[in-house]
Amino acid sequence: MVEGDILGKLAQQEIALRIGVLALQGDFREHMNMVERCGHEPIKVRLPEEVELIDGLIIPGGESTTFGIIMERYNLIAPIRKAASSGMPVFGTCAGAIVIAKEIEGSNQQRLSIMDISVRRNAFGRQVNSFEADIEIKQLGELPFRAVFIRAPIITKVGEGVEVLATFEGKIVLAKQGNIIACAFHPELTNDLRLHQYFISLCETYAKGRMNK
Ligand code: GLN
Repeated sequence: MVEGDILGKLAQQEIALRIGVLALQGDFREHMNMVERCGHEPIKVRLPEEVELIDGLIIPGGESTTFGIIMERYNLIAPIRKAASSGMPVFGTCAGAIVIAKEIEGSNQQRLSIMDISVRRNAFGRQVNSFEADIEIKQLGELPFRAVFIRAPIITKVGEGVEVLATFEGKIVLAKQGNIIACAFHPELTNDLRLHQYFISLCETYAKGRMNK
């Protein structure tokens, strides 16, 4: 192989990203598995200093009130807010989407408040606590995405600069504000890597920007 080929290959090669997964509670292992399947290194995040080592953070599903309490106890709120405001991508799924919202209907539970959305917890009612549905996400192409909803929230209001990426029965279930994504369902419980890949592409842009600084 001539040298030019090698350099070309190196230029094309994806950089190994460190994708953090908040590992305090909930289904963080499934997210770590998805990150690995996307070809990147999942990093468990539990300590404030770990937030500085990562190129993006996934906040999994679980119980949002518990996340709030543990994040506060572990002093994670300020470092995550700081990283998010400096452009680090954050992907909140289900309880994670609640935790990143500025407003949670009828609740003053602890939260990160890093995305200008209002959410309603357990919005699909008790009788349909869990279900699956195919939803359309234009950014991911033609093929519908199988969305798993488990005591899922919905996004009831979006502020300026928030893009709605998907709805289900007229309710907003996926939205993005710059580097922050809120997802009402569980993409980590399917075999479809597209949403994780989409998030990781934001992390890649962020990591490259950081390297060039
Ligand atoms: N209902 C939970 C909450 O309000 C979220 C459920 C989930 O993450 N699957 O925190």
